[in-house]
Amino acid sequence: LRRNQGEQEFHQAVREVLETLGPVLTQRPEFVDARIIERICEPERQLIFRVPWADDSGDIHVNRGFRVEFSSSLGPYKGGLRFHPSVNLGIVKFLGFEQIFKNALTGMPIGGGKGGADFDPKGRSDAEIMRFCQSFMTELHRHLGEYTDVPAGDIGVGGREIGYLFGQYKRITNRYESGVLTGKGLGWGGAQARTEATGYGCVLFTAEMLRSRGESLDGQRVAVSGSGNVAIYATEKAQQLGATVVTCSDSSGYVIDEKGIDLALLKEIKEEDRGRVSEYAERRGAHARFVPGTGVWSVPVDVALPCATQNELHADDALELVRNGVKAVAEGANMPTTPEAVRVLQEAGVAFAPGKAANAGGVATSALEMQQNASRDSWTFAHTEERLAEIMRHIHDSCYTTAERYGSPGNYVVGANIAGFELVADAMLAQGLI
Ligand code: NDP
Repeated sequence: LRRNQGEQEFHQAVREVLETLGPVLTQRPEFVDARIIERICEPERQLIFRVPWADDSGDIHVNRGFRVEFSSSLGPYKGGLRFHPSVNLGIVKFLGFEQIFKNALTGMPIGGGKGGADFDPKGRSDAEIMRFCQSFMTELHRHLGEYTDVPAGDIGVGGREIGYLFGQYKRITNRYESGVLTGKGLGWGGAQARTEATGYGCVLFTAEMLRSRGESLDGQRVAVSGSGNVAIYATEKAQQLGATVVTCSDSSGYVIDEKGIDLALLKEIKEEDRGRVSEYAERRGAHARFVPGTGVWSVPVDVALPCATQNELHADDALELVRNGVKAVAEGANMPTTPEAVRVLQEAGVAFAPGKAANAGGVATSALEMQQNASRDSWTFAHTEERLAEIMRHIHDSCYTTAERYGSPGNYVVGANIAGFELVADAMLAQGLI
């Protein structure tokens, strides 16, 4: 705690993992002797850098860029870049720490890292976004490489930003190194189903959890928070599996649509116009209404999918969800549920999937993109989606059986943490004191 002062989210993420590792440390004392916990909590490398850029009026701004290369035990550092004014070192470290275990759970050869900047893309023109991305990559490029560190998108970083970042990397290095970034456009090295993968994967994981309890998503009423990449494609897959998604949100409020979200309209507003969910309610007409502020979890549903940001579902929200009869909660976002809320849900017997398991489909499909780039190949949507579904089943089953093996049946938090930790800790032991 003293070494990482003020890094509140990082402490929260570490505590949540360490609290569950007791049984594996008792059974595997070699991990304790090799001081795996102390080593795994310290990033291999942390970079903080200046990102100067000029806006359209010529005014100069200076942002702070970050890349935390947390663990390369299983492969090159892999994890997204977040552009949001709230970004600081503690947030990047929490995301990077989670990423180590999430990436291990996918079964793919990828280490853990995360990065971003305290830059606010809202209201910025395409030209400003491009200049920011170019300045950001002008420093970051020297730390990247397909065998070293492979970033992707996250909040505020989608296809447009990855394009500008890739262009600048190529220009500086004079290398068309497709495997250095994932989430690329389909015409220039991107993978089918990558855009959809995190949201789809989260819903596939939810379907597996419900299946293990003898239920399915068909006919269930679902609340989704957020209206970005993860939220949109979680909504799409839930609808494909027969559920009715009745909400979406952004930082200004939420929409409730009793007839079910009109996904074509939501995509038009968010993906084309870069608008707000309040516009969805205005354009949808009588069935939908916009409610300012937080409160999306007060809507009665069978399944809740928090897909916006960290710490967005609190204990009182969890209590309300439980009172309204929620059966399953799966984290599309990273750490959206506070520890107190997780406890409320678990004690009430709600199936709860932590983000490092439920949202791992995105990074797993990024690893599939790297695989296609390395072999100069590109797979069909159907094939990639089938691989994603297999990976999500594998993650579900490995969390489920690990939780059982370590005496916490049905506890996906324990299962995900221990299963991911064992893979990384074994690799660290094998690779010596590095
Ligand atoms: P986007 O930028 O596409 O969307 C983020 C959404 O969350 C927007 O609706 C945004 O609303 C809302 N949001 C962001 N910050 C806040 C906040 N402080 N309060 C309320 N709402 C907020 O991001 P993604 O969909 O890519 O990411 C969402 C979550 O999923 C993040 O936790 C991310 O780390 C996680 N994730 C993403 C993956 C991916 O492949 N994209 C992979 C794995 C995890 P507004 O526009 O008002 O800010």
